[in-house]
Amino acid sequence: QAHLDRIAAVDGDVRAFLHVSDHALQVAADIDRRRAAGEQLGPVAGVPLAVKDVLVTTDMPSTSGSRILEGYLSPYDATVVARSRAAGLVPLGKTNMDEFAMGSSTEHSAYGPTHNPWDLDRIPGGSGGGSAAAVAAFEAPLALGSDTGGSIRQPAHVTGTVGIKPTYGGVSRFGAIALASSLDQVGPVTRTVLDAGLLHDVIGGHDPHDSTSLAHAWPSFADAAREGARGDVLKGLKVGVIAELPDSGFQAGVSASFRAALSAMEAQGAEIVEISAPHFEYGVAAYYLILPAEASSNLAKFDSVRFGLRVDVPGGTVEDVMAATRDAGFGDEVKRRIILGTYALSAGYYDAYYGSAQKVRTLIQRDFDAAFAQVDVIATPSAPTTAFRLGEKIDDPLQMYLNDVTTIPANLAGVPGISIPSGLAEEDGLPVGIQFLAPAMQDARLYRVGAALE
Ligand code: GLN
Repeated sequence: QAHLDRIAAVDGDVRAFLHVSDHALQVAADIDRRRAAGEQLGPVAGVPLAVKDVLVTTDMPSTSGSRILEGYLSPYDATVVARSRAAGLVPLGKTNMDEFAMGSSTEHSAYGPTHNPWDLDRIPGGSGGGSAAAVAAFEAPLALGSDTGGSIRQPAHVTGTVGIKPTYGGVSRFGAIALASSLDQVGPVTRTVLDAGLLHDVIGGHDPHDSTSLAHAWPSFADAAREGARGDVLKGLKVGVIAELPDSGFQAGVSASFRAALSAMEAQGAEIVEISAPHFEYGVAAYYLILPAEASSNLAKFDSVRFGLRVDVPGGTVEDVMAATRDAGFGDEVKRRIILGTYALSAGYYDAYYGSAQKVRTLIQRDFDAAFAQVDVIATPSAPTTAFRLGEKIDDPLQMYLNDVTTIPANLAGVPGISIPSGLAEEDGLPVGIQFLAPAMQDARLYRVGAALE
């Protein structure tokens, strides 16, 4: 009730939610009843959860921020939602996002932008700005996000929250409306590293419904966070800093906060090691070919027949209906990426664009392999700037894409990444995050390091 009250009080301004559950209190009451009857419930039973609208739910509409899915009710729950319900988490509502998770500001949502609770004139990040804003504004203690190129970590950075992109295959993608299937991962957005670990423990692990899900015995991430909070995990930790990461483009306060965080780690016994990752900076270029290619294919299913919207064209052919529906149902950014993606995949250009981008992806993976032979984690600022103003980059897609420079490489390589708050930028008083990356399957290391710094 307290969270519903908070939503009622602030969400008219923040606009984190696209839909608020009308039966969350009943679900919570049922959990109370089970607990009173002596049932042993897990550590998160009864805790409210905000769910990014990219995740399908049977009891609330799932639009992925698009008109083409307005009012769409899924016949099944995403695996992460089903597991959350089974653990007694109480879904509070569905959170706003850039349409089909394309964007870094939520301004591409068909339902209007979310506002950053730190300053309502600024963006909450994207694509999962709704989940991060809900957590930052105390409308929900925990949220689920999805991260294809930074959509969990960059919103965490600009809202002063914690966001984790798990190892690719660590969390099921079943029921996450696909953006780019080889890059997408679902993960937690929370206020503390321990909270993220508790949620990750609930949603993670093998799922036979997702063919890329890893059959791996994951440790408890909550335990890893507790270990990190207790002890001297930073002592002797080798932290890699990328030599080639271009200094220009980083806001002064972001760089200063990053350097201060590194000094604090050094003071606690960490060793800062300069590493070379020469292809890291080409991640954005490769990603904005691979992502549109996969997205154009994934979005072909929105054909006016199988899902959602249909715009009738009297006397028209099936192609006319399809074209009219996709014209009315998709926003500009989605159309831009479908055009880019189909072009990159077309017979005459496939090798030059898609093929080359895949080669760059392999080079980035090799950079990571070489780096992790030398260091335990890599550290970067989570994003180049603090929250920019709503409207500032909306007409300049390239500027919007460049905001993803530090987050994208982890998705291309499949490795896990965490963004934790590292203070406020001096020039604007807005939150800044530091990102840590670890080798694939070593998500627990990120929880230890993150909790040690909290
Ligand atoms: N900003 C990135 C993009 O626009 C991130 C998307 C994501 O992680 N879903 O593609």
